[in-house]
Amino acid sequence: MKTYVSHLECSFTGKRYDSGVAHTVSEEGKPLLVKYDLRALKEEIPRSRIEESGEPGFWKYAPLLPVTKEQNRISLGEVVTPLVELMDSAALLGCGSGKVTVKDESRLPTGSFKARGLGLAVSMAKELGVLHLAIPTNGNAGSALAAYASRAGIKTTVLCPDDTPEINVRETAIQGANTHLVNGLIGECGKIISEGDLDWFPVSTLKEPYRIEGKKTMGLELAEQMNWKLPDVIFYPTGGGTGIIGMWKGFHELLELGWMDCELPRMVAVQSTGCAPIVKAWKEEREFAEFWEGAETISSGIRVPSALGDFLILEAVRASGGFAMSVTDEETLNIQNEIGKRDGLLMCPEGAATAVAYQKSIEKGLVSPDDNVVLFNTATGLKYPLPEVISRIDKSDVDYSIF
Ligand SMILES: *Cc1c(COP(=O)(O)O)cnc(C)c1O
Repeated sequence: MKTYVSHLECSFTGKRYDSGVAHTVSEEGKPLLVKYDLRALKEEIPRSRIEESGEPGFWKYAPLLPVTKEQNRISLGEVVTPLVELMDSAALLGCGSGKVTVKDESRLPTGSFKARGLGLAVSMAKELGVLHLAIPTNGNAGSALAAYASRAGIKTTVLCPDDTPEINVRETAIQGANTHLVNGLIGECGKIISEGDLDWFPVSTLKEPYRIEGKKTMGLELAEQMNWKLPDVIFYPTGGGTGIIGMWKGFHELLELGWMDCELPRMVAVQSTGCAPIVKAWKEEREFAEFWEGAETISSGIRVPSALGDFLILEAVRASGGFAMSVTDEETLNIQNEIGKRDGLLMCPEGAATAVAYQKSIEKGLVSPDDNVVLFNTATGLKYPLPEVISRIDKSDVDYSIF
């Protein structure tokens, strides 16, 4: 199997690094991006080869990914995640003659789109001979890493803030990671890993180059599903930003390959009012975001007070003509409930937050009711607390008036 990777590049300075050896960040402490020889790829691989490949899920984009050996591709039965159009709730959200479609990432292994990034990171770790991986996580990243690493026979250490949802901590442990609770925030968990002089290799968000490549496949897959066109607007729940950065990178690769020639969508970064460093930086027209003190939200996947790739997220948002917006937890739970009731789709809070942002954007005239938009449901709603059911029926004395 051939890889078209030419080199790695510092996302800030453009400095080149060799591929084929394990890297963390660049000398400047910024994320490294994977670069490909797209000219050669274009000559040797027609788009139809991808379309007809029959590979499972995101592995069908293997020529645009860095893994060279087939046996290093770690797979747990990935699927192409479906596009589910909102029907009854679309009108509630303010949609007119456009369409609101959910890309439902909850169907991936471990129930979240973290499978894409960590599937790639683990596969590359295997390829590069790494024997022990470590990650700080608020939830879904830990279980995805645990699952793929166990499958690959790689040892894993996961550090979680001690208020990480219990379900995430437990699913991580049962999928084989040495899992520990830390009395601190995710950044402090990361510090323990970076300061520990052990044999582990950190796979913190954007501190290794390959998670972005996995997340990029969301964009490639979306383009192919939409017949190599893209929606007018994408609403994305933004934490560390690998998804926005990855999709934006993927779209440009598709343009350069000539596999697609449509206009790129406006990218909207959605955060919670309880943790909105990117929204603040976007409003203040800054290049970098400041650390967000006292981060607090039910949307644990986007509770990220400081993102290493902040400037890349902001760049994608600006270059696309998009914007950043925060929503409250109350609005999020309300919309999660409405979409569940009206359309039978259980969104995770992070996904529901994108629906709130869409609704507010229409109200504010930032997005047209005629636009075709895609919302990302990044995980299964089943991992989060759900409202209690309190009605009890006494089988020996049924009161039929309640039905
Ligand atoms: C990690 C996570 C996010 C944020 O992802 P990024 O691409 O790193 O911004 C959003 N939603 C859920 C459910 C997550 O687990």
